[in-house]
Amino acid sequence: MPVPSHAYTEHIASHEVICHECDLLVQVPRLEEGEQALCPRCGNSLMLLPKAPLQRPLVYALTSLIMLLCANVLPFLAINAKGMANSMNLYQAASVLFSEDYRLLSIAIYLCMQLLPACCLLLVSYLYYGFLRGRVVPGATTVTRWLFRLLPWTMAEVFMVAVLVSLIKIASLADIFIGAGFWCFCLFSVMYIKSMVHLDRAWIWSRIAGPMPSVGLLLQGKEGLSQGVTLCHGCHGIIDIQSERCPRCQHKVHPRTPHSIEYCFALLITACILYLPANLLPIMVTESLGQTHYSTILGGVVLLWNMGSYPIALVIFIASVLVPITKILALFWLCYTVYRQDGHHRRGRTRLYRLTEFIGRWSMVDVFVVAVLAALIRMGKLMSIYPGTAAVAFAGVVVVTMIAAMLFDPRLIWDAAQPHKDTRRDL
Ligand SMILES: [Zn+2]
Ligand SMILES: [Zn+2]
Repeated sequence: MPVPSHAYTEHIASHEVICHECDLLVQVPRLEEGEQALCPRCGNSLMLLPKAPLQRPLVYALTSLIMLLCANVLPFLAINAKGMANSMNLYQAASVLFSEDYRLLSIAIYLCMQLLPACCLLLVSYLYYGFLRGRVVPGATTVTRWLFRLLPWTMAEVFMVAVLVSLIKIASLADIFIGAGFWCFCLFSVMYIKSMVHLDRAWIWSRIAGPMPSVGLLLQGKEGLSQGVTLCHGCHGIIDIQSERCPRCQHKVHPRTPHSIEYCFALLITACILYLPANLLPIMVTESLGQTHYSTILGGVVLLWNMGSYPIALVIFIASVLVPITKILALFWLCYTVYRQDGHHRRGRTRLYRLTEFIGRWSMVDVFVVAVLAALIRMGKLMSIYPGTAAVAFAGVVVVTMIAAMLFDPRLIWDAAQPHKDTRRDL
């Protein structure tokens, strides 16, 4: 199928969009390469046209894929302590946990650090190969749908930080040999991020399916819901709230996420329950010269602090203690203010929501650190590290809070101050 003629131009013509965080209808001016449109009310990014929008994502994605392949076949890390040596390949960070009966956690780690990023890179390469050739590849709509579904669950860069933290943790215990695979993985992570930040959902959909059918005359600076239209979460087009599915991407139409506050609240309670074993049970078991030492998350932070590894103690404390607690409290507060129909500090609360959504994945650092240490430190009775039960509970907290943040609809923050009673009755 040929690309619609309007899509050949390397600019985005002026058009109307609805902000997906505050529901404001905005007229976006013509965008040139390297420009981004922000919502004048909540500051959310409405649209982005990166420089060289056709070439860069493809080049970055292909480079990233090659680097990932090299990272898997080349030696990753090796250590030497008191004459005993051990080495690990990249895939062993997940496979060691599998053999230790932490199968679910092992599969989750492998998915997040390698398989899902690889899938996203392949999908981007396929899609953009078509764009570059001036064509829409077969199955482009399904590819795009899956690409944006998988993206939030990819954690390549989080894993890279975890490897760095692990290296600093064991630097005082053993000699470390960094293999070529490690550098390839660093390059893979950087190229992966560069490829993904160049993606814009609305722009991709306009290229593969053309412009959205008109829904009539709309007033700028007013909420979409008050005008009987809403944003399609699949392709970011404007659709009539009476439609069942989006005519362009077939995404189900929901003027607001159904039962957003209830689901978010229930998931937050679950996260709180999981947070107890995650902190009380050991996350890591160390066997050294016949002695077994169990360490909890907080115990590990205190130990690192006492050893003088202040930066690493801070990284672990922020990622494993501060971020999950702040995220849970922030989402509870957002749910409560929406429930109370609080009309104050709406811009600030929307920013807080954006932050909680962004930082949530970084809590996985500690789980990845345990996986790397368990794979690397295998020297029999001299010193061996095993994962503890808390690693599973903690991964659960991260996943559950991520889903809670996804289900929270930030537009409710703006609805609270100005209920659209007439439209709501129809929903
Ligand atoms: Zn907005
Ligand atoms: Zn759509």
